[in-house]
Amino acid sequence: MNKKNRSIAIDGDSGSGKSTVGKMLASRLGFLFVDSGLLYRAATFIITSKHKENEPRLWTNIIKNSSIDLDSKGKVKINNDFVDLKDLRSEIVDKWVSPVSTVKEIRSVITNTLRKIASDKSVVMVGRDIGTVVLKDAFLKIYLTASLTERAKRRFMELIGKGEKITFQDVLENLKERDIIDSSRDVAPLMVASDAVVIDTTNISADDVVNKIIEFYKGREYVIRNIPRTGESII
Ligand code: C5P
Repeated sequence: MNKKNRSIAIDGDSGSGKSTVGKMLASRLGFLFVDSGLLYRAATFIITSKHKENEPRLWTNIIKNSSIDLDSKGKVKINNDFVDLKDLRSEIVDKWVSPVSTVKEIRSVITNTLRKIASDKSVVMVGRDIGTVVLKDAFLKIYLTASLTERAKRRFMELIGKGEKITFQDVLENLKERDIIDSSRDVAPLMVASDAVVIDTTNISADDVVNKIIEFYKGREYVIRNIPRTGESII
């Protein structure tokens, strides 16, 4: 990543507000917003559309023979066709996305795609392993968290708003299960990067979270611009 790249990595638990906050932040800073979860969801969508969710040994080949990409506005394309966001956030994709995301070869394909996108521009990228693996040298790393009940409430409202027939308990159980799989997998498990700023969003509005991140971002800018070169004195 070049010196002018000011990419921000946002990781966190499912439903911690990463997408809402990431989108708002990207628009305030004029950066591209990249939701890496959508690429894992796209891989899962390909597998479930072929009804191969119960045959994990076929997953890597299926994904290696498909193309998953993002256009210049961050919209997902599968084999060059745009995919409806609703299909990527359906109940069946929710159920299978974490198992699919444990596969090393699939992670490697998606990580390469993500790195390519961020190689020549500043992005706000959200996910589970952005600060720890994908953009290890990101300009700023944030880790968002919130209580399980609050996260389930947010996700439940989102799904109900889209007309899905689902109970609050189902949503809560799915989040719990995904948290366990995501944080205990062998490859790129969800964890807080040692240099990340942790923000608990349980009782804070998305606007306030964005303002906080912008404060940290400006603080980093200040340090980068004003750090004395070797041999220079700051006094
Ligand atoms: O962010 P979202 O909830 O849409 O992500 C869906 C799933 O994709 C996560 O539960 C996780 O299993 C996987 N994922 C991942 N690494 C990322 C982003 C998402 O493993 N960087």
